[in-house]
Amino acid sequence: MPPSLVTSNFSLLFIAAVILTLAARLWLTSRHIRHVIAHRDRVPADFAERISLAAHQKAANYTVDRSKFGILGSLADSALLLALTLGGGIAALHAFWSPRLDGLGYGLAMIFSVMLISALVDLPFSLYRQFVIEARHGFNRMSLGLFFADLFKHALIGVLIGAPVILAVLWLMGAMGNYWWLYVWLFWSAFNLLIMFVYPTWIAPLFNKFAPLEEGEMKTRIEALLARCGFRSSGLFVMDGSKRSSHGNAYFTGFGNNKRIVFFDTLLSRLAPSEIEAVLAHELGHFRRHHIVQRIVLMFAASLAFLWLLGQLIDAPWFYNGLGVPAENTALALILFFLVIPVFTFPLNPLSSYLSRRNEFEADAYAAEHAAAGDLVRALVKLYEDNASTLTPDPLHSLFYDSHPPAAQRIARLQTVAR
Ligand SMILES: [Zn+2]
Repeated sequence: MPPSLVTSNFSLLFIAAVILTLAARLWLTSRHIRHVIAHRDRVPADFAERISLAAHQKAANYTVDRSKFGILGSLADSALLLALTLGGGIAALHAFWSPRLDGLGYGLAMIFSVMLISALVDLPFSLYRQFVIEARHGFNRMSLGLFFADLFKHALIGVLIGAPVILAVLWLMGAMGNYWWLYVWLFWSAFNLLIMFVYPTWIAPLFNKFAPLEEGEMKTRIEALLARCGFRSSGLFVMDGSKRSSHGNAYFTGFGNNKRIVFFDTLLSRLAPSEIEAVLAHELGHFRRHHIVQRIVLMFAASLAFLWLLGQLIDAPWFYNGLGVPAENTALALILFFLVIPVFTFPLNPLSSYLSRRNEFEADAYAAEHAAAGDLVRALVKLYEDNASTLTPDPLHSLFYDSHPPAAQRIARLQTVAR
């Protein structure tokens, strides 16, 4: 095939992928909205005794609001992607920066420009989500001041950490010959491990306060559970999640000897000690069943595959020209690749959601062994109610997007072993 034909074929393939992905996302979302509305007037039989009709309808309204707004977000994402690529956005940035800077400076300016544009496009969406949708349903606890303080801190950390990392990657790409992708992968993997290690102690405290869990029944129960499960951590902490939102959660951060268990204050205030113990047993299940390590290995394998693929594309003129960019260099290759790859990997969503849901069932089974399954069921029902999560998701939408199994399935499995 003559080069120009390869280029235009790739452009067509890209446009087709953008349109198909967008159409699939819109179709799944509209199915989800219809399904939730169709089941709005009756609490599913399994939950009839635990959840009121009012709470069920609140969850439906919240889900529908968020999903409708999500449609606008999908449209904006696709429009921005097309504007940056075939619409000439990246070509214009290149025309602006290339006479002014060269080498690593040019690369850094290009990458930060694209990130800045994406952030600016996203800003009104984040504002609307937080201060209109979350506020309307009673979840927002943030002031505008805190929102912009967070934004500023994220941007500052992004620049302080991001700039040296981008410079190192660009340098490796230019200096390491044909196997640059292998060196970039080693660097990237090491960097990620380092961030996971320092995040709980250095980065998270910039945004929230972490207080040690107070002595009392809760702490005694939790320490007994940790001992039962043979788990060592470097501390139990309570985070002031209520500063931003009334959604509750519990999580682990760090790894090795730097593991911390973090409870949102919003979770502690809503669940009984035995229920918190069951939630924590579920989280411990993720560790004990090696889900965390599996996820890290999978992530590293995927980034190796993507970097190898980029290594194959980086010298192909059709890759740049087919995406509307009339020049070739390492920074442009990186930008185009990471902008475009999600439209080609969208069909893999059900696979990653499936793996995640399988892990959730395993963690639930672990929790049922080491704590009371009935407590986990009660905790889940409270969390569903408090977070206004829908109990009646569209099954196909769920297959694509849900990292957790539908409530009814999870609870049905737990009830077979519940005391
Ligand atoms: Zn889980």
